[in-house]
Amino acid sequence: MTSTHLQQRDKAVNWHPYTQMKTANDIVPIVKGKGLYLYDQENKKYMDVVSSWWVTLHGHSHPYIAQRVFEQLNTLEQVIFAGFTHEPAIQLSENLLQLLPDNQEKVFYSDNGSTAVEVALKMCIQYAHNQGKKKTKILAFKNAYHGDTFGAMSVSGKSFWTKPFESMLFEVVFIDTPNSENLEQLKAKIKDHADEAACFIYEPLVQGAAGMLMYEAEDLDNLMKFCREQGLLMIQDEVFTGFGRTGKLFAADHLTEKPDIMCFSKGLTGGTIPMGITTCSDEIYNTFWSDDRHKTLFHGHSFTANPLACAAGLASMELLLEEETQTSIKRITQQHSEFVKVLSSHPHVENARQIGTILAFDCRTGQGTSYFNEVGKQLYHEFLQRGIIMRPLGNVIYLVPPYCITSGELEFVYQNILEVLDQI
Ligand SMILES: *Cc1c(COP(=O)(O)O)cnc(C)c1O
Repeated sequence: MTSTHLQQRDKAVNWHPYTQMKTANDIVPIVKGKGLYLYDQENKKYMDVVSSWWVTLHGHSHPYIAQRVFEQLNTLEQVIFAGFTHEPAIQLSENLLQLLPDNQEKVFYSDNGSTAVEVALKMCIQYAHNQGKKKTKILAFKNAYHGDTFGAMSVSGKSFWTKPFESMLFEVVFIDTPNSENLEQLKAKIKDHADEAACFIYEPLVQGAAGMLMYEAEDLDNLMKFCREQGLLMIQDEVFTGFGRTGKLFAADHLTEKPDIMCFSKGLTGGTIPMGITTCSDEIYNTFWSDDRHKTLFHGHSFTANPLACAAGLASMELLLEEETQTSIKRITQQHSEFVKVLSSHPHVENARQIGTILAFDCRTGQGTSYFNEVGKQLYHEFLQRGIIMRPLGNVIYLVPPYCITSGELEFVYQNILEVLDQI
């Protein structure tokens, strides 16, 4: 069977995410993944330097995670999590909480990043409700991305992604990301809304889907401190930044202030099985702790705390904490920071930036920065031809490699970036 055959069968039945199906004639059938590489039917290999939408931590088809999931599959594959519990969920919660800021005390499981955000929002709104208050406004950053379900869309920056649903999204006050100049202005705006606001939700240090926009930990700390003073709950969405991406285990490790709630998914299971987690402080949890059944958090998904996903999460976290992985993260961070210097002096590059294992830059094209920027599509194909999977966000090119990438492989990618840039 040729890949054309698979492409035709695919197009007859499958509707792909974020894809205009009419013009998508180039969807690549993949048959196998191993480490950094994905393989198509002709055994052509592709370097997956976007970690398959930012989820793969230790490379594809990691044998240790596979083994642990297989063992779990043969022991207990699923059990209703209302009224029942199991060792993998208990262990994963214990292990995760140990790594988080010390005010994080309870773990709520769901299915993906968007649901982790939905749970967080519901916790904050009901936190007020359970205390007899009505606080339904929410603060968020412009350009934010928190997922594609309705609550998550509401707190994401307004864009053509959310345009068709705009009238159905709830009320959110959007503020700029902080810098040394606008802090006082942001504080004034927060203060204006603090009384009616249930919470402030943000992507810490990196706004991923908006184009890997970065801002300083010191400025976020300042803003968080002010939110704390104003009695505003904070949701730190670490769905992307968690599990080593920013060079530390969590973006929280760059900060001194602590959020009330945190959201995780993507790298949580090493990118193997979908799962979301929302953690919270006892301060939040205790407003639900009651003899009054109305104060219950009425939320749950069929596969809440699925044992297979928990087993994958445990295995991935073990791998992440190994010295070898930590050394790799430091090495990638170091290599990226050297390459950022090279990029910065390139005539076709603007705003080269990096935090930890995340590297990004804007391609100077004369077309401006837009998701629809045609150059993104051209670059995507150019890199694919070279056996490298990149998925530019408009004219923003970024690398988010799995931690198993070698320095030689990373150099190869850098070299190809420079060659492609010279062609523009
Ligand atoms: C990807 C992402 C989400 C949504 O996660 P899904 O698993 O795709 O629903 C939420 N928040 C951030 C910061 C993300 O990057």
